[in-house]
Amino acid sequence: MDPHFYGVSPRETEGCIFCEIVRGEEKAAVVYEDVSFVAFMDRNPINEGHLLVLPKTHYETLFEMPVEDVGPLFTKVVYLAAAVREAMKADGINIGQNNGRAAHQIVPHVHVHIIPRYQNDSPEGRWPSRRPASLEELEAAAGRIRTSAEALPTSSAPRE
Ligand SMILES: [Zn+2]
Repeated sequence: MDPHFYGVSPRETEGCIFCEIVRGEEKAAVVYEDVSFVAFMDRNPINEGHLLVLPKTHYETLFEMPVEDVGPLFTKVVYLAAAVREAMKADGINIGQNNGRAAHQIVPHVHVHIIPRYQNDSPEGRWPSRRPASLEELEAAAGRIRTSAEALPTSSAPRE
């Protein structure tokens, strides 16, 4: 993946870690990028392969985002979730989108979580614990997901 990003959001926000990643000021293990959206590995994955998909433009929550951009965002989510499922040999996939602190939104830049899940990863019915991952680990997972994404039928790839 080209480490350089195409565009800079006109609404970039100082101090937003995701905007810093979009601007290339902060490292991330990038899986997918186009003019409007980017997907990179969560640094504190619930399971290996935990991916985030977000608009490059800074909107705090889904409610600030233009509704016509929400559909395209979720088109990428479905495509990338299929790649995560294949790459991580997941038994299931959680897709999560948190709005506001009360909903456990940590970074105030709208994003969608794609989380691979396994038959016995939550014996007590709770989410598996998050743990910090090294950039090397994240890059390895990103590489596997990119390979799986490339192998998906082209009909499932998002159109620009
Ligand atoms: Zn931001």
